[in-house]
Amino acid sequence: MADNMQEEEGILRKELSEYGRRSFERGLICGTGGNLSARIPGTDKVLVTPTGISLGDVRPNENILVSLDGEVLDSPMDLIPSKETSFHLRAYRLRPDINAVAHLHPPYATAYANKGIALPLVTVSARANLKHVPTIECALPGSEELCELVTKGLGDYPEARTLLMKEHGILALGKDLKTAFYLADLVEDTAKVAFIAANIKF
Ligand code: 13P
Ligand code: ZN
Repeated sequence: MADNMQEEEGILRKELSEYGRRSFERGLICGTGGNLSARIPGTDKVLVTPTGISLGDVRPNENILVSLDGEVLDSPMDLIPSKETSFHLRAYRLRPDINAVAHLHPPYATAYANKGIALPLVTVSARANLKHVPTIECALPGSEELCELVTKGLGDYPEARTLLMKEHGILALGKDLKTAFYLADLVEDTAKVAFIAANIKF
């Protein structure tokens, strides 16, 4: 592997752990829910978080390098990639401009997802940065069916950078992990404001 690609991989391994910890501390996941991935820019290689470990605890060398076809290329700690790796990889194939995917389980956004409607964009920040947050139906975590639903959602709404997943959580896509994380955080904050506004009674 070229030196600069190895250097890039090392940086992304650290970023995955950093944004995993921040996702946990922001309440965007609980327990071992959620997963993150990052494409090594300009390659068909993706780093993904391991299955079954809280994103708050994943260490840089526990992240796993996979190909866009889902083949494990390097797992330094012999861990297994997230069970949702297939929809992360599908997102990279569908959106050549994105290099990071965050799948998280934030409570307010998930509650709105359960309603089966697009997230109400109740702030100017949400309207400017999210544009439209569609909702996809529910299927079992890790299933081919869920991967197909995500694929359809991304295909049906080519401008969407975030999706709500009914009875499950959210998906945020970014040019890098910081952008995907900020979008996910904005989706949850928007859902909170929408909920609070809907419950203020005069
Ligand atoms: P993993 O631990 O396999 O990443 O699964 C968590 C999750 O959010 C499943 O949808
Ligand atoms: Zn999940």
